[in-house]
Amino acid sequence: MTSYSELGLVNTKELFKKAINGGYAIPAYNFNNMEQMQAIIQACVETKSPVILQVSAGARKYANQNILKNMARGAVEYAHELGYDIPIVLHLDHGDSFDLCKDCIETGFSSVMIDGSHFSYEENIALTRKVCEFAHSQKDYVTVEGELGVLAGVEDDVSSEHSHYTQPDEVVDFVNKTKVDSLAISIGTSHGRAKFTPEQCTRDANGVLIPPPLRFDILEEIEKKIPGFPIVLHGASSVPIEYVQMIEKYGGKLTDSVGIPEDQLRKAAKSAVCKINVDSDGRLAMTAQIRKLLVEKPDEFDPRKILSPARDELKKLYAYKNKNVLGSAGQA
Ligand SMILES: [Zn+2]
Repeated sequence: MTSYSELGLVNTKELFKKAINGGYAIPAYNFNNMEQMQAIIQACVETKSPVILQVSAGARKYANQNILKNMARGAVEYAHELGYDIPIVLHLDHGDSFDLCKDCIETGFSSVMIDGSHFSYEENIALTRKVCEFAHSQKDYVTVEGELGVLAGVEDDVSSEHSHYTQPDEVVDFVNKTKVDSLAISIGTSHGRAKFTPEQCTRDANGVLIPPPLRFDILEEIEKKIPGFPIVLHGASSVPIEYVQMIEKYGGKLTDSVGIPEDQLRKAAKSAVCKINVDSDGRLAMTAQIRKLLVEKPDEFDPRKILSPARDELKKLYAYKNKNVLGSAGQA
């Protein structure tokens, strides 16, 4: 049993309070390996941004949660070594059971998500409340994110064909009964790199897909019901066209990729949305550089040389997001 404060980590409580008051969002970047962790920490130290290191079920399977925990400890020390201590959260993304959340909390996670959005409303409340009771009774208070409404798209083991927008009428009851610390909502974001079908989009003059706008009217209604309560956006990658084109130029195929435009995320970050999840964009940045390098240097077989440009690109992307999209730069 490890307590997260022993690892140098923090929960999301203070970070979210400051983010809502300051009109910005904390980045939640997924990580599965050392290169991603290094890029995230380099970017967040350079821009002086707090950060949530996010671990999905897929990441636990790929990397093992004890290794990830120790990488989070390493991330704290790495930031210190780079010359600037930033608040770092280790967060479980899309926990699907009480046992998984309990396991992560006892491993040293400072924050967990319990995603009961696929269950009935009553079952979602019961499950979320159970996780909150356990998380909040720890020596170090562990923060819990719940979810109301369903996002479309595919993310590791989480997938749904259709989205169901969050119903503003349910949020007060849900928050009061569960005691969650933050709430993921569905207002039109979606998991993965193809967030909408071409039929849901329009096309610009170059044939590039333009997605339907986020439902800011629903977000506003939710904010009125629970003023100042931390809201989370999942599935908030922008799917930059440059990366998609680069991947396709070097042999990849990512038909009909489309994400959430940056200006909409910037607008959301200025509201009660205080955590924005980004995973697909990081995957695209790394894959684009890896494909480029392998094509341009066919004799290269040192994984370090193959992964270095990918790590640099990821760092560049995340520093850009902190500064220009989330507004978290300078807030650590
Ligand atoms: Zn998600």
